[in-house]
Amino acid sequence: GGRAAGRRQVRARKEVILSAGAYESPHLLLKSGVGPAHDLESAGVEVRVDLPGVGQHLQDHPIIGLKYRLGPPGGVWFPKSITKLWLTFPSLLWSYLWAGKGALSSSGCDVGFFGASNSSHTRRPDLQMHGMVTAGDTSFFTDFLNYDSSFTDQIGELSDVHALWAQGMLIAPTLLHAVTEGSVSLNPRSVRAGPPLIRYEAFGHEEDVDRLIECIRRMQTIMAQPAMAAHEPVLLYARDLAQEFGLDSDQYWAEYIKRFGFVVYHPTGTCRMGRAGEPTAVVDSSLRVFGVRGLRVADASIMPDIVSGNTQVPSAAIGVQMAAILRKEHGISVDHLG
Ligand SMILES: Cc1cc2nc3c(=O)[nH]c(=O)nc-3n(C[C@H](O)[C@H](O)[C@H](O)COP(=O)(O)OP(=O)(O)OC[C@H]3O[C@@H](n4cnc5c(N)ncnc54)[C@H](O)[C@@H]3O)c2cc1C
Repeated sequence: GGRAAGRRQVRARKEVILSAGAYESPHLLLKSGVGPAHDLESAGVEVRVDLPGVGQHLQDHPIIGLKYRLGPPGGVWFPKSITKLWLTFPSLLWSYLWAGKGALSSSGCDVGFFGASNSSHTRRPDLQMHGMVTAGDTSFFTDFLNYDSSFTDQIGELSDVHALWAQGMLIAPTLLHAVTEGSVSLNPRSVRAGPPLIRYEAFGHEEDVDRLIECIRRMQTIMAQPAMAAHEPVLLYARDLAQEFGLDSDQYWAEYIKRFGFVVYHPTGTCRMGRAGEPTAVVDSSLRVFGVRGLRVADASIMPDIVSGNTQVPSAAIGVQMAAILRKEHGISVDHLG
């Protein structure tokens, strides 16, 4: 946002609450001279507060998509995408509009699993599976998952032109507590304008890859159960990789993960909450930025450690807590908030 020309100064009578998300909140702090002194100096930014944790400790959830075809090659004749299914079965639209029920009431992610890859993760799960029946939706793969033809051309039998788009399920094993961490920093070539530098090497750590392979094995066990047999699930493999590394070998999956994996848009931890003096702590338990009076951060960036699941609701909960803290500290009644 902002205006094309000129600067405007806005003064807050009480406090400033920064909620620009896990990439932009640390970026704004860094541009304002709040961050690791050495990095600020080398970017030519005047150091106001030396706070080494700003932009560090970036965490996310690495994920890998696998396609199960359900039924024979070629799929079925009606539209495969759940969003277009009502064109063939108008009654679906009626039952959704009338009663909020039926296939159209799906969130698109109807199957889920949380588990531990080994006994050291029993305190909290480190594996999640997202199971989606949106497999037939081309735009879901290309626009949302950003898969290009290097992935889509690889999957399924050569003769099966509908392999990826056929009736089926996309199951996406997800790593909840990756060893890998990244960072958000100033881009020395455009410190004042433009995006920050975001470093996050998903799958750079062998332990993360091994745990995702374990999650794939769990998924294969679930899909092999008698209850699934009626749906005739067939896992589709990437042809070139299968030839090079052997169908279904651990090495095949390691390569598959590195080539086709991504992160599931859950950046957190870049302004993490902690105790004063902790090397990576940026805010205290009331979300006040250490060393800066009248400034708090309230968004996903303050998570001390990434949550064991999707981040939207936890982020909203942080906002709710922020409101409760402000109400208490400033003596604001709910009536006053209108
Ligand atoms: C494609 C996608 C799909 C997702 N799917 C899910 C899901 O299914 N389930 C789930 O739980 N989570 C999902 N997430 C994650 C979830 O959306 C985030 O964890 C959550 O929104 C984080 O909230 P936040 O307040 O920290 O940041 P945000 O929601 O990103 O809010 C930050 C806001 O600050 C604004 N902003 C940034 N910089 C400036 C600036 N300089 N000036 C003014 N405004 C600024 C941004 O425009 C934005 O509106 C998804 C994320 C993405 C990107």
